[in-house]
Amino acid sequence: MPSEFDLIARYFTRPTPHTLLGVGDDAALISPSPGMNLVVSTDMLAAGTHFFPDADPEALGWKCLAVNVSDLAAMAARPRWAVLAVALPQADEHWIAAFARGFFACASTFGIDVIGGDTTRGPLNFCVTIFGEVPPNQALLRSGARPGDEIWVSGLPGRAALGLAHLQGRCVLAEPALADSLEALHRPQPRVALGLALRELATAAIDVSDGLLADLGHILERSGVAATLHLQRLPRREPSGCSDPGLVMDCQLAGGDDYELVFTVPENKHAAVASLSAGLDLTLTCIGKIDAGNSPVVTVLDGEGNPSIPSRHGFDHFA
Ligand code: ADP
Ligand code: MG
Repeated sequence: MPSEFDLIARYFTRPTPHTLLGVGDDAALISPSPGMNLVVSTDMLAAGTHFFPDADPEALGWKCLAVNVSDLAAMAARPRWAVLAVALPQADEHWIAAFARGFFACASTFGIDVIGGDTTRGPLNFCVTIFGEVPPNQALLRSGARPGDEIWVSGLPGRAALGLAHLQGRCVLAEPALADSLEALHRPQPRVALGLALRELATAAIDVSDGLLADLGHILERSGVAATLHLQRLPRREPSGCSDPGLVMDCQLAGGDDYELVFTVPENKHAAVASLSAGLDLTLTCIGKIDAGNSPVVTVLDGEGNPSIPSRHGFDHFA
C-alpha cells in the first residue's frame, strides 16, 4: 500500500518552472510578475454532486482543473499556479494515475505550475485553488455592464447539458452530436485566450457554469441592469441530434457545465469582437442587449419578437 507521501511524490509532483519553491515543503513560494494583480479562485468537485462516483478518472482530472481555469478566463486573467486538495476513499493507484494524467494535461495546456496541495483519506472530493495574473484595472468584473452594451456568448452553450441528459436517459442523442456533447461535458475547454483578448473590449464577463440565463443574471445583478435575449440568435449545432427541441432549448438557456464565456461589449466594439472569432477559431455570437432597469430581468424574445417564458434558468445547489 503506498503511503500518502509516495502518492504525492509519484503522482502529484511535476516540474514547476515558474515557481520559486513547489511541492515538498510546508508551503510553496511564488513570485508574481512585477506590477501584476494576483487573481485567486477556488472550486470544489464532490462525488455525487458534480460527477458520478464511477466517472472516468482522467476526464475528471482534466475537468477538476479546467473549471478553475475557466473562472480566471472569465476575469481576463492568465492562469499561473494551482494547488490541489484531494480526499480519496482508498489509494487505488490506477485510478490516481489516470486522474493525475488528466489534471496535469490541463495544467500543461494552460501553462500552470501545480505547486502544492493536500492528500487525505475520505469521501471522494477535490478542491483546487488557482492563482493567475492580470494587469491593474484590466480584470473583467461582473459589475461593468451598461445599458446599450451587446451581450455575446462563446461556443455553443447547451452541449454539456445535452450530453448529461443523454447519460441520464432523458433523451437519446444521435451521432455526431452525442460525441460532441460528451466531449463538452467531460473535457470542457476554458476560454483563456478569449478572456485575454477581451481585456480591451468587454465591459463585463462570466463563465457559464450554472446556465446561460442564471449566469447572465449574475452580471445583471452586479451591474444593476436588465437584458433582452433573442432565442433565434442562440448559436446551435445542426443537426442537434435530439428529437426533443424543447429539451435542446432548455439546455441552451439553463444547461450548466459548459464553461463558455458570456460577456458584454459596447456597441461600437461589435466588429472588433466579431473579428476575434477567426483568430481564436471559436464561434462568438451576439445574442442580445443590456437594458436599463433596476431588477436583473432577462426578457427572452422568440423568432416573432414575442416574449417567451423559459421553464428553467439554471442550476442551484440549494434551490
Ligand atoms: P503538511 O503536513 O505540512 O500540510 P503535507 O504532508 O500535507 O504537508 O504535504 C507535503 C507536500 O506535498 C506539500 O508541499 C504539499 O503542498 C504537497 N502536496 C500534498 N498533497 C498534494 C497534492 N494532492 N498535489 C500536489 N501537492 C500536494
Ligand atoms: Mg497537508
